Amino acid sequence: MKIAVIGGGISGLSTVFYLNKLIPDAKVFLFEKDDYLGGKIKTDKVEDYLFESGSNGFLSNKPLTFDFINEVGGDDLILKSNDSARIRYIFHKNRLHRLPDNPKDFLKTNLLSFSGKLRVLSEYFRKTKKDDSDENLQSFGYRRVGKEFTDIFLDAMSAGIFASTPKALSVQAGFPKVVELEKEYGGLFRGMLAKKKSDTGPSGVLTSFKGGMSSFINLLESKLKMELFKDTEVNKVNKSLNGGYSVEFETEKLTKKFSLEFDKVIFSTPSNTTARLIRKIDRDIAYDLASIEYTPMSIVSFGYDEPYFDLNGFGLLTTTASRQDILGVLWDSSIFNDRANEKNRSLRVMIGGVRNRDLALKSREELIEIARRGIQNTMDINEIPDKAFVKQWREAIPNYAIGHTEKVNKIFTKLKKHKGLYLNSNAYYGVGFNDCIENSRKCIKNILIN
Ligand SMILES: Cc1cc2nc3c(=O)[nH]c(=O)nc-3n(C[C@H](O)[C@H](O)[C@H](O)COP(=O)(O)OP(=O)(O)OC[C@H]3O[C@@H](n4cnc5c(N)ncnc54)[C@H](O)[C@@H]3O)c2cc1C
Repeated sequence: MKIAVIGGGISGLSTVFYLNKLIPDAKVFLFEKDDYLGGKIKTDKVEDYLFESGSNGFLSNKPLTFDFINEVGGDDLILKSNDSARIRYIFHKNRLHRLPDNPKDFLKTNLLSFSGKLRVLSEYFRKTKKDDSDENLQSFGYRRVGKEFTDIFLDAMSAGIFASTPKALSVQAGFPKVVELEKEYGGLFRGMLAKKKSDTGPSGVLTSFKGGMSSFINLLESKLKMELFKDTEVNKVNKSLNGGYSVEFETEKLTKKFSLEFDKVIFSTPSNTTARLIRKIDRDIAYDLASIEYTPMSIVSFGYDEPYFDLNGFGLLTTTASRQDILGVLWDSSIFNDRANEKNRSLRVMIGGVRNRDLALKSREELIEIARRGIQNTMDINEIPDKAFVKQWREAIPNYAIGHTEKVNKIFTKLKKHKGLYLNSNAYYGVGFNDCIENSRKCIKNILIN
């Protein structure tokens, strides 16, 4: 059996991994547009610094991810974040506040007023939603924990995970566990108490790889059994007369277009690209895929060759109400030991997202200026960085808007009529590194049973 996987991000790569493992006889071809594998995972070494342009790690709460790393042979690369990375900050009302991480600190924090705290605690007694319709995170938050908590905590969290806002995010698609708690237990506190652990949010410890995220991608590349076409953009996928599919592609180096025949095709591309590729086969599915929006975001990494300041913690997120041009700052050299030399400091600033789409698309010089101003405002750091590295993602993260899950379920149902076509990327059921791996496994298991 010949299978084409289109897109060499972590979704495509883990798809190839599970194909190798679960369907060992399949001959797998991977097509990647860029000259590197990893997609939104990319580490760049700039002298003594390791700068991550995209994902900087994954949460350690999914055993499947560790099984995957182990089977790839990457155990020795695993790098746990420093304990100090549990210290997080929110920039709100013109100053940094330490994020409370236990009930006692929550009661003491001055991020919330007394009545705001009471409103959160009253969640226990709130009535549950009567119907199953989706709602945005803002309306869910206002209902359950109150406006104040939502506009500060959930707002900052949406920016940190999805580069989005509570208003733009579907609670069902973005935080399905939270919806489950309300449905099954009648509320978040009730659910957490019943489960005796707070597994509603993104718990777990941030974990990465020695040498940066790309070091694992490089290992994965070396272990996968596949015909690899890098620098190769797929332009079209068509149905063939024999019941299979033809994949049309062109490479940077060769101007000629090529076409190869496959029994099955797995799209691990962003959904709007998939829409373009699949259009000839099913316009209706293509239309739905194209309606999943992507959010632009730029990352500005700074390196400081002298310890001008101390960094102790994970970093900070800003709230919409704080009216900053930056979404947050990750204190890279404080999170992972090998991102900079001991005396050096490195951090990266996130700009854009749903809050400030236009800012993400500014020029390199403007982005550096925005980032410098952002850390001046939030951290009072005025030193000029010795290194600056900018990565602009025009389509950084898919935004899971209201109705996302229903739309995606519909797309997957409609796709069943095209035997041999599969979708698997971060556009559908989760954007995290862990989600991508889990969904790849599900995708291949689905091939096995169909
Ligand atoms: C700035 C940033 C920070 C993040 N931080 C974290 C984090 O800390 N933790 C976490 O868990 N997640 C994080 N994420 C999310 C996570 O990194 C992504 O959701 C995940 O890497 C996406 O993987 P993917 O393979 O689904 O998509 P992508 O990585 O986008 O891969 C798609 C691939 O398809 C290729 N492609 C596109 N069109 C074609 C074509 N026509 N032909 C061939 N190939 C094509 C692309 O070049 C790309 O390589 C972050 C994302 C961003 C942008």
